[in-house]
Amino acid sequence: MTQQHIPARFKEVTMKRFSPALGFVTMLLASCSSTTDTSDQPATDTPAEAGSPPTGSSGTGSESASAAIGARAESLRSELIDMRREIHRHPELSGQEVQTAALIEARLRAQGLEVRTGVGGHGVVGVLRGGRPGPVVAYRADMDAMPNQEPPGRAYGSTVPNVFHVCGHDLHSTIGVGVATALASMRDQLQGTAVFLFQPAEETVEGAAAMLRDGALDGLDPQVIYGLHSFPNHVGTVFAQGTALAGFDNFTITLDTEHSTPEMENKLKADLAPIGTIAPPETGDDIAKFVADLQDPNGPYDETVFLRVSSSTVDDRLVLRGSLKASDDSAYERIRDAVREAVAREVPEGTYELAFRDGGPFPAMRSDNQVADRTAATLAHVVGKENVLSMHGTVPYASEDFAFFLQRTPGVMVLLGVENREKGFSGFPHFPDFDADEDAIVIGTKAMSTVIWDHLSKQ
Ligand SMILES: [Zn+2]
Repeated sequence: MTQQHIPARFKEVTMKRFSPALGFVTMLLASCSSTTDTSDQPATDTPAEAGSPPTGSSGTGSESASAAIGARAESLRSELIDMRREIHRHPELSGQEVQTAALIEARLRAQGLEVRTGVGGHGVVGVLRGGRPGPVVAYRADMDAMPNQEPPGRAYGSTVPNVFHVCGHDLHSTIGVGVATALASMRDQLQGTAVFLFQPAEETVEGAAAMLRDGALDGLDPQVIYGLHSFPNHVGTVFAQGTALAGFDNFTITLDTEHSTPEMENKLKADLAPIGTIAPPETGDDIAKFVADLQDPNGPYDETVFLRVSSSTVDDRLVLRGSLKASDDSAYERIRDAVREAVAREVPEGTYELAFRDGGPFPAMRSDNQVADRTAATLAHVVGKENVLSMHGTVPYASEDFAFFLQRTPGVMVLLGVENREKGFSGFPHFPDFDADEDAIVIGTKAMSTVIWDHLSKQ
């Protein structure tokens, strides 16, 4: 996930580090450490040993399988939390995920997965082949951190100055390894193949495309693909249906020196401002309302444009950089026209340069409805029906290059609740105080292990 909205103080730090050519995109992840051998697991961890092979006939593949997955995930709790913290302490920026990838690789190999490394940069692909025939399912987790400073005082805080897992990719990587570990412990009964994609460079929206170009899924042909991202719904809840994140565009306006005045800057910003239709949450209460509104069929997130404009002076020339996120990909043509018109109203022709994102706007991410319905039905057995949330509209402040996987394969991005205000976890990715309730790690591991198991078992 990539997000443009962050409180102003934080934005100044972040935006300076963004490459305009890449747009203002970001997200992170991480994971690591060694895995226990499956032979160490208690006999009751596997359905075969429990005497009741899964059949795929019930809502969770089988009740015994679901219980076994839950028990396995629960048994991994301390190990997974340790792994998350290790990754969190050693965050790596987009394209530099060397240690994170190595930790993941070690974990996957310890579970007996077929592992390919260096896929689309530092991407890792792990293939878990079940003991029974069946289809292929893919699961993607992202790995990179962001160029921000973590607040001081956390026991497991980043040890790298100005690098911080502020988007939760440390959790995502850990959960990905947790899912692979849980399913590997039941591989004899697994009906098909699970492919795990650990993606680098999500925050720069380069990694997904790079992995696909590098053949991450060649010869595997998954029927569906799942992803997961931290989100500020309460821990224990998940958004499964309707999940959608905005696409984005950006522009740069460079004025000549004569027109590079504070007055012009203010005029242009005022003229551009109405293009944006929505303001981001700033407080905990705002975030709670945002999450509630997303669940409202009549809520405000059907059609939105989020605009942020920053300014700087380069060689005595005023430069305005705008980032735009629209819920509807077809809106960018109209939005670009509005930007052109705003500038033309204020600045004489020939005295400025206006450029939009190379390659055109970045697409919105939308989950597949059919896959989402199935996923929601499975998740109801894992977290309780009342804790499976449906999204109405599109998240206006975040983008995801998981969109490229979804263009190839139908699938779902599950938004995992990591918020717990009572414990001080805002759960809003890219906020300067972002942190997550670690209970979400086991919940996410149970949830996605069961979703994959259920999909394979029902074929
Ligand atoms: Zn993210």
